[in-house]
Amino acid sequence: MKRLVTVIILTISLLVSILLCWMIAGCTTGQVTVKPSSLGDSYFPLLGNEGYDALHYHLDITPDFDAETLDATVEITIQATQNLTEFNLDFWGYTITDVTIEGQLVKYGRDQGELMIIPNYPIAIGDTFEVTVAYNGKPRKGIPEDVFYGGPKFLASAGWVFHAGGSFVTSEPRGASFWYPVNDHPKDKATYSFSITVPEPYVVATSGELIEVINDNGMLTYKSVLNDLTASYLVTVHTGDLVLDETGKEGQVPIRNYFAGRHFDRARPIFEDTSEMITFYEGIIGEYPFDVYGSVVVDFDLTYALETQTLSTYGTRILEDSVRADITRAHELVHQWFGNSVSLARWRDIWLNEGFATYLSLMWVTEIYEDDVVQSVLNDWYDRISDPDFMNTAPDSIGDPDAENLFHDAVYWRGALTLHALRQHVDDEVFFEMIRTYFQRFKDSNATVEDFIALANEVSGEDLTDLFDVWLYQKVVPQIEGLPFGDDTS
Ligand SMILES: [Zn+2]
Repeated sequence: MKRLVTVIILTISLLVSILLCWMIAGCTTGQVTVKPSSLGDSYFPLLGNEGYDALHYHLDITPDFDAETLDATVEITIQATQNLTEFNLDFWGYTITDVTIEGQLVKYGRDQGELMIIPNYPIAIGDTFEVTVAYNGKPRKGIPEDVFYGGPKFLASAGWVFHAGGSFVTSEPRGASFWYPVNDHPKDKATYSFSITVPEPYVVATSGELIEVINDNGMLTYKSVLNDLTASYLVTVHTGDLVLDETGKEGQVPIRNYFAGRHFDRARPIFEDTSEMITFYEGIIGEYPFDVYGSVVVDFDLTYALETQTLSTYGTRILEDSVRADITRAHELVHQWFGNSVSLARWRDIWLNEGFATYLSLMWVTEIYEDDVVQSVLNDWYDRISDPDFMNTAPDSIGDPDAENLFHDAVYWRGALTLHALRQHVDDEVFFEMIRTYFQRFKDSNATVEDFIALANEVSGEDLTDLFDVWLYQKVVPQIEGLPFGDDTS
């Protein structure tokens, strides 16, 4: 009976594999039939792969700024969590020249974003082994259009982007696999090291800490390490005319900022208060979770900023010094706790990233501006999310907004006001106890929206299901005390 069940399951698995393979054109590469692999994320079913835990990535990359290509070798230390006769990485584009396991060439196959690797011998559960993938080519080659959330100019998920004078990397939510082979899901965080080789006078800035720069006849190799567990989309490498600024390094957390040379004088004073901001947020949330922090301002008009781990990424818009810039800098810093250390477990949990960073950024505004500035920001958010035109485009639920609405303003503004409503309901003492407990319990790990709701119920000693239900899973905008644009009928 048991054996029969096994045979049936194997037969069904085979049929499903063949069916999925048939559904994706061209899934046979040479002798290798590529089977899809998944971590079961409903928004991005093919992101992430099962059967192993990626422990460490070493990214050895030489960009060619004239040809706008990368020449790279990535070494990945992997631990099997199942017996493996094959396994997948996520990787789009480029020409792969070699794949090895423990130094031996192995077979592999590719189908769109799936790279399937076949070890020469089965790998036993618990074994740790090293995979290398050598590749070259142009970033973004072969990337489907649909990854560009918000239109082609919104490059947040493009991975490695060359621009005049250098390059930057932002990868949320799924751009990591556009510049290196990876288990591309926040559920499998890893540590990183980097060897990035550029010609003089280019400067390299990566997530983590710079160890040394080796000069070989005018070719500079920047070696750095990122010892904190990091989700793949948060890993960044910047190159260009970047000038190092270590203002604030006397604080508990070492600070290193990199500013595009021609913007250095404007950028430096704007970021001078970084240590002060970290100390402020440590008082609210808990100890800063990583070894180092800083910001990079690239010489490019980015329409967004991103909380790339230990080195937040900004375009030149951040130089328009204003309340908005202060909110943005606080937002990206708060993400180091919420988003980066406490990572979402599924992409549908995006509220845990954006609602928290948006709302808690206001705490810094409270610290440095008059009360009426904070009130006007809250009013503005409430006014906008109540606007009928806005509501028409907003997702039905910010607790599960769909992949195309991951970065809809509703996730940010309504998401922030959800926490404001919670704070008003339970009072400040209980609210900030929730924030601290949530961080302590889920740091260096992953959480779901349901995890936070359960924790809020536990800390408050109250069933808050109805409050979360209306804010996260309905479209109506409830009244909030003190905000003048409330809908009396809701
Ligand atoms: Zn954010």
